[in-house]
Amino acid sequence: MADSPLTKVYRRLFDAFGPQHWWPGETPFEVIVGAVLTQNTNWQNVERAMANLRDADVLDPRALSHVPVEELEELIRPAGYFRVKAKRLRSLLEFIMDRYNGDLDVMFQTSLSDLRCQLLEVNGIGPETADSILLYAGELPTFVVDAYTFRVFCRHGWIGFDADYHQLQDYIQGALPQEVPLYNEYHALLVRLGKDFCRKSKPKCDLCPLRAMLPKGGPLEPE
Ligand code: SF4
Repeated sequence: MADSPLTKVYRRLFDAFGPQHWWPGETPFEVIVGAVLTQNTNWQNVERAMANLRDADVLDPRALSHVPVEELEELIRPAGYFRVKAKRLRSLLEFIMDRYNGDLDVMFQTSLSDLRCQLLEVNGIGPETADSILLYAGELPTFVVDAYTFRVFCRHGWIGFDADYHQLQDYIQGALPQEVPLYNEYHALLVRLGKDFCRKSKPKCDLCPLRAMLPKGGPLEPE
């Protein structure tokens, strides 16, 4: 990798935290389900919902699409917002079954830009969920941007506080080689950074691996 600020960030984070071994999920379909369940909750709650789905032996597209919605809600209840998430899962399953006959291998052979557009048309699938599915389940090179990414990049002045998802994604992708393992690890490292150091209030800059990269006056704040 060429030596740009973003590659320095990556090296510092990787040296500090080591490999993060993402995404937790045994199969591409588990990753897809997990990407929906993890919206607005922590991974521990997702794990409990995933364990229910595993115990019920419904973790494949065909089986899960046959589970009645009330039953699905109960199975995923530990993940929170279970009614909304059940609807979103149903919409996503309908898409996978109708368009790809439940065959994820075929689905992920679609070009990245086409499949991304298709996923974004599914009810409840926003850019972060779509990119998580594409990167972590499909191994397609698209960078997953989340609230942690925004926070770190804005506080350092690498992007404005008014930037939107795609502006930040374009900025990152424009500065890095298009490599799936790199995008995979980078996102995971940023999540670790956001959780452990770059918190919403009172960031722990003094102990942070990126402290030497801060602007002179410290982390920036929105005007
Ligand atoms: S140095 Fe401070 S602002 Fe920068 S990433 Fe670390 S905690 Fe966040």
